Amino acid sequence: MHRAPTAILKGSALIVDEGLIEQRGYLRDLIGIGFGPSNLALAVAVAEHEHEHALAAAFLESKPAFRWHEGMLIDGATMQVSFLKDLVTLRDPSSAYSFLSYLHEKGRLIDFINHKELYPSRTEFHDYFAWAAARLEHLVTYECAVTHIEPVWAGDRIAHFAVHTRRSPDRPLPARNLVLATGLRPRMPDGVQPGPRVWHNHELLYRTGPLHDTAPRRLVVVGAGQSAAETAEYLHRTFGTAEINLVFARYGFSPADDSPFANRIFDPAAVDDFFAADDETKQRLLKYHANTNYSVVDLELIDELYRRHYQERVNGHERLRFLKASRIASLDERDDTVVVRVAHQLDGTISTIEADAVVFATGYRPPDHTPLLGGVADLVVRDTAGRPVVDRDYRLRLRVPATGGIYLQGGTEHTHGITASLLSNSAVRAGEILASITASARFGELRTMSLSNTGGGHA
Ligand SMILES: Cc1cc2nc3c(=O)[nH]c(=O)nc-3n(C[C@H](O)[C@H](O)[C@H](O)COP(=O)(O)OP(=O)(O)OC[C@H]3O[C@@H](n4cnc5c(N)ncnc54)[C@H](O)[C@@H]3O)c2cc1C
Repeated sequence: MHRAPTAILKGSALIVDEGLIEQRGYLRDLIGIGFGPSNLALAVAVAEHEHEHALAAAFLESKPAFRWHEGMLIDGATMQVSFLKDLVTLRDPSSAYSFLSYLHEKGRLIDFINHKELYPSRTEFHDYFAWAAARLEHLVTYECAVTHIEPVWAGDRIAHFAVHTRRSPDRPLPARNLVLATGLRPRMPDGVQPGPRVWHNHELLYRTGPLHDTAPRRLVVVGAGQSAAETAEYLHRTFGTAEINLVFARYGFSPADDSPFANRIFDPAAVDDFFAADDETKQRLLKYHANTNYSVVDLELIDELYRRHYQERVNGHERLRFLKASRIASLDERDDTVVVRVAHQLDGTISTIEADAVVFATGYRPPDHTPLLGGVADLVVRDTAGRPVVDRDYRLRLRVPATGGIYLQGGTEHTHGITASLLSNSAVRAGEILASITASARFGELRTMSLSNTGGGHA
């Protein structure tokens, strides 16, 4: 393997020339799999890398363009992190990729300041992400789903990894280091199959499109977390004649704890504390602070839903209905309806709803990386619970020596804590992963080469 002559040195980073991604023999220092916010933050770190050496990086994304949870880009929904926890600020507040730089470029900085808002709308943050992604387009190949990876051996050491894509199954891309950031997977309850009238909420805005022509009469939302509350609010506001039935096992919504002391569980320093803790302490901390993130709803949204519900009771026409302490007993999806049987756990009764559609806002599960890891999966060291062992620098521990490594963004809640799948720590985590990759011996050599080639380098 040799470095491709068509790569260009741009600033401090070796940037892949257009079309170079198709030159399959080119060994990259880093391939990022998935291009959501986590690997976007890493791409920012790569582009702004200040060392004197060259770094050949590429990112592969299955979608045709940058998209962040588009099915839930509900008008009015807000971020659940401060805009200061953007792609870069916590790592480098002077970066040109910050949310403030975005606002400045869009001519809205002063308007945003006057807005006095720490939590921008989700649509605005999506636009910010897309703005950053567009500036890094030279690093990304879209419509390029990775099917699996394989180890490439030099004796008993993994020399590099071969990345197999759906696009070119027979021409894998070689890379010394991989960063897997493939996101969470929608979770449906056991036994429930999605269908034309039965969906998970991640598809909400796509699936409700056709309903606009049909004036739906009854819709069911299952779940009691933020997504369920947002879905119910959206359906209630959008389909003015429909009855919205919320089915959940709880007695009522619980508010998300975003008070300042509890919020510290999302701090970069909390990752060090969590990582160093024993397993029992880790479990305890996750349990104590689950109400900062899981099955909880922003208080403002709870208040808004309650306000509407109460006003409807005053008016004597209830469209927003809460079926508490209840669960779905059965679903029967037909051509023109879904027959939903709801079991009420307080009195043991069953009621039937004939719904136009049922939306399951039943959460997400962490990715199982095993299929993606292909021939590397069996080489991963696992703990007694069968979970992958991940080092502090987010590198998967392997049973064999390797020149580079496989790093995880996501799927590390058991080792690094609650921020594993959230945005809070993505800027700092990206910096830590890049630092680990560039700390390798190879980058020592490159630093020396780069200094002798340029006759100096950066101060
Ligand atoms: C509606 C919603 C709102 C949220 N809001 C917040 C919030 O306000 N604050 C917060 O901290 N967290 C929030 N989250 C949590 C969420 O996990 C993070 O916002 C964020 O999406 C994590 O980024 P990611 O890049 O790790 O994963 P993702 O955003 O899921 O991106 C993963 C990417 O990998 C791609 N991919 C997957 N498999 C492959 C493959 N085999 N080959 C190539 N590409 C692949 C996917 O297409 C996707 O683009 C929210 C989640 C949802 C669902």
